Amino acid sequence: MRQRIVAGNWKMNLTVKEGLKLAEDLQKLLSSNTIYYSDTTFILAPSFLHLLSLKEISDRSVFVLAAQNISDKEKGAFTGEVSAAMLASAEIKYAIIGHSERRLLFHESNEMLKSKINLAIANQISPIFCCGEPLDVRENNTEMDFVLRQLDESLFHLEEAQIKNVIIAYEPIWAIGTGQTATPEQAEEMHRFIRTKVEQKYSPETAEAISILYGGSVNPKTANSLFSQQNIDGALVGGASLVAEDFFKIMMDII
Ligand code: PEP
Repeated sequence: MRQRIVAGNWKMNLTVKEGLKLAEDLQKLLSSNTIYYSDTTFILAPSFLHLLSLKEISDRSVFVLAAQNISDKEKGAFTGEVSAAMLASAEIKYAIIGHSERRLLFHESNEMLKSKINLAIANQISPIFCCGEPLDVRENNTEMDFVLRQLDESLFHLEEAQIKNVIIAYEPIWAIGTGQTATPEQAEEMHRFIRTKVEQKYSPETAEAISILYGGSVNPKTANSLFSQQNIDGALVGGASLVAEDFFKIMMDII
């Protein structure tokens, strides 16, 4: 059964104190709701610095923590980097890999992301693998080729048992932080395409087991119609995850 997932990407926002407050506010809202399902997962992806300070709240709440990135190197003289093994030792079970901001601003290539994926899997961390096209690619109607290349070059080398631990997040770059959400039909079309490619590469069973999230200006007004699409299993949320009430509403929409 596919997991229904809502993940919040805090990016480089909030001090440690502000992060604790937001997580506490969310915990209070979540504890007022007693109905949760085993096929639903809520994830917060704060900065590395927040991960340990939020552990205690996460342990008594229904949300789990994710890193926003991991190093593509195993260990050694890579100042400023955080390895998959370090995250695993802090019991972090998820990591966003390949966010478009990292691809564009930090020049992360599909090849580098392949290394990150391998290290995450080797350390029992489930990657939330981001893919998605820039505006000019969509305007040229080549977004399917673009996304397929990202999957082919960073993900589709995995064994079938390994890829079942990957969450795919389709995040069209033109929709991230712009307020311009993809329409449910646009998102569903790409999600169906991605699931078909997983099916062709692996099997119908694996395609049916993998969660594919949509990301790009999801907010409390747009979440429900996106979640009603057959191949949209949840959302990766940026801006709206920084407002407890907004993120809570999106989390409740997935149930
Ligand atoms: C993101 O950063 O992954 C994202 C989807 O951001 P936003 O929701 O703000 O567009």
